[in-house]
Amino acid sequence: MESETGDSVARRVRLVLENIRRAAVRAGRSPAEVRLVAATKTVSVERIQEGIAAGLSLLGENRMQEALAKMACLKDTPVRWHFIGQLQRRKVRSIIGLFDMIHSVDSVELAQEIDRRAGEGGITQRILLEVNMGGESTKAGFRPDAIERQIPILGALPHVRIQGLMTIPPPAPEAEEARSYFCGLRELAGRIADQEVPSVTMQELSMGMSHDYEVAIEEGATLVRVGTAIFGARHV
Ligand SMILES: *Cc1c(COP(=O)(O)O)cnc(C)c1O
Repeated sequence: MESETGDSVARRVRLVLENIRRAAVRAGRSPAEVRLVAATKTVSVERIQEGIAAGLSLLGENRMQEALAKMACLKDTPVRWHFIGQLQRRKVRSIIGLFDMIHSVDSVELAQEIDRRAGEGGITQRILLEVNMGGESTKAGFRPDAIERQIPILGALPHVRIQGLMTIPPPAPEAEEARSYFCGLRELAGRIADQEVPSVTMQELSMGMSHDYEVAIEEGATLVRVGTAIFGARHV
């Protein structure tokens, strides 16, 4: 029997996937270039399972403890996990090897710590660099005017693979207000790719959330991180 909420999660997953497809087509892109990362912080395992049944295959978590608990419950489910939350250096050790991708690498020091711990664990960790496009003093992230200089240092880390950039634009009521930040991130990724630093690729742009993912796709997003539009408002 399907609960009322369950039904609505399934319906919203299908709606978001359809919106993603349409936004890609509108932008002359292949829908296959855009992947949906369901942002599942505070969402129960039951609701996540309803989402998976409706087509979610990639989950983004913000907190280590919460992610570990959910991974244990969903270990027989064919989903992949991305880490999208702020990561403290002292927590890096416990996350190595659990996530396909870490979206939120916001400093050289954090990248170096991930490199060190990945090396100890005998793995290579895929990461994205978070860029503070709005220059907000309250927000973490690389500065857009400094990151190009830092790329050679980051590219030299042997146990991380930098695969692209991520951003969270300043909050704005209208999705259109985010467009210039998304466009700016795409252009920045282009300039970094032109540096041709070995082992650095700019194949992923993680940008766009519930209220602006369609604009982000029009501007080149390959990973959109969507929570509320699928699971409803968070009450925590
Ligand atoms: C929660 C979260 C999202 C999703 O936000 P919604 O507005 O609920 O879609 C995306 N990215 C990050 C980093 C988040 O923490």
